[in-house]
Amino acid sequence: MLSQWIVEYLQWVFLLILLLNLAQRRQYETAARKRLATLYIAAGLILFYAVAHVIRLLEISDWWLLPTGVALVFALTRGESAVRAFRLYCRGCGSRLSLASIVYQDSNLCSDCRFGEPPETPYEEVDERKD
Ligand SMILES: [Zn+2]
Repeated sequence: MLSQWIVEYLQWVFLLILLLNLAQRRQYETAARKRLATLYIAAGLILFYAVAHVIRLLEISDWWLLPTGVALVFALTRGESAVRAFRLYCRGCGSRLSLASIVYQDSNLCSDCRFGEPPETPYEEVDERKD
């Protein structure tokens, strides 16, 4: 049963997310929004865990997980939501972000863009008027 698997293993995922949240606490100046996002994700997982547990206690069909799962995915992905706080690519130049930037930087900018040095492009236009 799916609900049995969720009850057995989702607590470990929840624990990993809470450990990530504690690690983000050390970077509070730059990761406040992402720390709140991990709390929302953890709250959603606890709700899903609770529904799976109730399904096991009442011995009803696992199909009752579906509405909860749909509502959870909708709540965590709409608009500027919890899951969308974590981007894989830089907002400025589109390059792949490091794991530290993904987890700890609310700006979602790579180190080059963050410190005001946009990366050089191979086809950069040269201004000839400065000669
Ligand atoms: Zn960048």
